[in-house]
Amino acid sequence: MPKITDFEIHDVRFPTSLTGDGTDAMNTDCDYSSAYITLLTDTDLVGHGMTFTIGRGNDIVCSAIREVANRLVGKSTEDDLFADMGKTWDFMMSDPQLRWIGPEKGVIHIATGAVNNAVWDMYARARQKPLWKLVVDFTPEELVRSAAWRYISDAITKEEALEMLKKKEGTKKEREEKVRELGYPAYVTSAGWLGYSDEKVARLTKEAVAMGFNHFKMKVGADQANDIRRGKIIRSIIDDPQHLPPGVQPRDPNGEDLKGKNAGPTGSVLMIDANQVWDVKQAIDYVKGLEEIKPWFIEEPTAPDDILGHAAIRKALKPHGIGVATGEHAHNRMVFKQLLQADAIDVCQIDSCRLAGVSEVISVLLMSAKFGVPVCPHAGGVGLCEYVIHLSLIDYIAISGTMERNVLEYVDHLHEHFVTPCSINKRGRYNVPNKPTEGYSIEMFKSSIAEFEWPNGSYWAGRAKQVKA
Ligand SMILES: [Mg+2]
Repeated sequence: MPKITDFEIHDVRFPTSLTGDGTDAMNTDCDYSSAYITLLTDTDLVGHGMTFTIGRGNDIVCSAIREVANRLVGKSTEDDLFADMGKTWDFMMSDPQLRWIGPEKGVIHIATGAVNNAVWDMYARARQKPLWKLVVDFTPEELVRSAAWRYISDAITKEEALEMLKKKEGTKKEREEKVRELGYPAYVTSAGWLGYSDEKVARLTKEAVAMGFNHFKMKVGADQANDIRRGKIIRSIIDDPQHLPPGVQPRDPNGEDLKGKNAGPTGSVLMIDANQVWDVKQAIDYVKGLEEIKPWFIEEPTAPDDILGHAAIRKALKPHGIGVATGEHAHNRMVFKQLLQADAIDVCQIDSCRLAGVSEVISVLLMSAKFGVPVCPHAGGVGLCEYVIHLSLIDYIAISGTMERNVLEYVDHLHEHFVTPCSINKRGRYNVPNKPTEGYSIEMFKSSIAEFEWPNGSYWAGRAKQVKA
């Protein structure tokens, strides 16, 4: 039976700040980075995991990953880890000394996310299934056992979760077949970065419509007049049937899947994202001023920990037909619990590696399903799209049972560095990862690591030489 013997950690940084990719009102200069770990065993079995940062500080996360991973060395994969993934998660969270530098937030939490994801990747590889398939094939009891349960029983109990899952159990197969055929709905963010010119925004929006997308997100919050101008450019393209791909008919903006989303005449939906720049009142005033571009929701209008602030913004914007979404910086399941309890969000945006891995994500998926709030995961960066398609498939097939109103973020950057990159089909939807050996789809090419490892990979060493010269 395999035992964890060692691990490798890599600080990998991509120079995305050179092109303005990923720029928004808060994050103006991002080098998309991966704090990457491979768990090794005394057999061929390995587990890859990572968490995402945007550059400086990635080395600090790598140091924390080392501390977390050290505790797994010597563990038997089957008996100590896979047999009860909820217990494994509790063990990973409970180092009495590491806990002090959280608990359950910040660097230590995202580092734990990288390692927990590596354990899940290894588990899926050991069973020769992609991660989503491993999890949807669990019995309801196994799925409940895999989640993180501490501190959330006032929102959902294990018994309630079990009952919910059992109701969905009999129809899982149908949903699996349907999503394999259609793909999982996606939306595009890469057209609307703040650092892009109007021409680039228009060109990328047209390309996205032609690819079959019908939900689009734009970054806002630096300048209101500028946001309205850019929003109108995007709306003028997405609302015009002439840009639809050949043979595609406009969708009914009042249909069940689009109701309440402020869809335009072709059934296209615009979302806006402020990346936390405003105070609560400022957010309300600013977003009211964007009513004419008809957004479905404002994402991250204020500080990510401010649950009551989000609730106040949601209440104030409701009469204007604009919803509230957040979650990519919600650091643990308790923040999501309170956002749901306080009626603060219309859309729940989990992040695959800000939460501490698959086990904690499952807890949030269960709570969101109970509260009837759709989960539209955060993605982009590097590796996040590869991860989140698995989570949305788990949500659809085994937990919420619906994908009609969900959309999963898609950003077309850096997929070429992954051995099994995510992909989008002709309908503008994510394809279902299918290879029995791909685990959680997060394995990076060794050549990419060799090129972009900070600071001595060939790319960064070459740049240092240029700067000296
Ligand atoms: Mg965002």
